Amino acid sequence: MEGRHIAVIGGGINGVMSAWALLDRGYRVSLFEAGQLIGATSRASSKMLHGGLRYLEQGRIGMVREALLERRWWLERGTGLAAPFRMHIPLYRGKGRPGWMIRAGTLLYDLLALGSKLPRSARHSRDDTLAAIPGLQEQGLLGSVSYWDVRMDDEALGRWAAEQLIRRGLQCHSGLPILRLASNGELECAGKVRKFDAVVNATGPWATQLLEQSGIACPWKLLAVRGSHLVVARPLREGCLFQQDDGRVVFYLPFRNLAILGTTEARADPRDPVCASETEVEELLAIHARHVRPALRRDEIVEVMAGLRPIVVPRGKEGADTRTASRESLTVRTGKVVTLLGGKWTTARQQGLSVADEIDRICGRT
Ligand SMILES: Cc1cc2nc3c(=O)[nH]c(=O)nc-3n(C[C@H](O)[C@H](O)[C@H](O)COP(=O)(O)OP(=O)(O)OC[C@H]3O[C@@H](n4cnc5c(N)ncnc54)[C@H](O)[C@@H]3O)c2cc1C
Repeated sequence: MEGRHIAVIGGGINGVMSAWALLDRGYRVSLFEAGQLIGATSRASSKMLHGGLRYLEQGRIGMVREALLERRWWLERGTGLAAPFRMHIPLYRGKGRPGWMIRAGTLLYDLLALGSKLPRSARHSRDDTLAAIPGLQEQGLLGSVSYWDVRMDDEALGRWAAEQLIRRGLQCHSGLPILRLASNGELECAGKVRKFDAVVNATGPWATQLLEQSGIACPWKLLAVRGSHLVVARPLREGCLFQQDDGRVVFYLPFRNLAILGTTEARADPRDPVCASETEVEELLAIHARHVRPALRRDEIVEVMAGLRPIVVPRGKEGADTRTASRESLTVRTGKVVTLLGGKWTTARQQGLSVADEIDRICGRT
């Protein structure tokens, strides 16, 4: 495909990994990012390369298996920006999901992770759980079930991936928003129109908005759900998952030499600035106080992060329950434009491969 020039719009992990797959296939690639590379959702995640234990409850076995295997690919890059860690699910008398159900879930997780070379899940005594998670609420604590996942520095790892591509010839234009795109491969930015052999719309939560403002119809709509995290000055060695009364889970994980606590779920409008509300900060502090002693002080908050989860729903089903809506990704082709909708950080490489398959079709390669 020497000579074919592809534009990728969006410098989050999905844009970067789409560019990765396209460069691997011999395309010339230019990437346009409105702000900074890895400056939006892809730096505000829960920082886990994971299958997502809770998706097993929703029966999304294939998605979990794919993500569990992708963890290995990121570890094998040897960046030092991703490492396996143990996550504890504390078990309390009469609260949360029953221990047998959690144990069954983690055993299935182990089974689906076969081939990923991470340690297996285990059951822990009360004392071992308290030693692993300092300050954990002791009243009614029975012990914990632990399983293994991979934690990452999402911003640094995403930038590492982008730097590899820039060395390989990716033309990167940061601070350059695309105002309009057309199905014939034309892009409008900074008062100029440029034409490409094909275009990838990898603008994450803003993907259907960009199509709408370009007058391109799409059968899908993205609902934005804001998730916020607190980065707090409480060094942690192992991770912990707090079960909420409404079935939600909140993660408390080691991050750099600190800890990260989140996430909230609040419906949002992608046209608004993405930042956590005071209510979300208070909610997270209250959740922490219910589970860990001493309670967090405001001056222990190092950073508040917020990102938008793009939830894909068919147009006309905007009232869907965002908690149970699929986290799987899909690609939509309109002429020479491929739009990537949804997906996870963990599976961004696979999402990039799907985008490249569509581009191959547009360019007559398959
Ligand atoms: C709270 C939260 C926690 C999460 N936790 C995890 C997790 O632990 N593990 C996991 O695997 N996944 C997680 N996810 C999902 C994961 O973060 C996302 O799937 C992923 O980051 C999406 O990447 P993206 O490139 O599609 O979007 P983004 O990172 O948002 O990138 C899109 C980019 O497009 C740019 N853009 C928008 N419009 C234009 C335009 N017109 N012109 C040019 N550029 C434009 C934006 O500036 C942005 O940089 C989480 C998501 C959230 C919200």
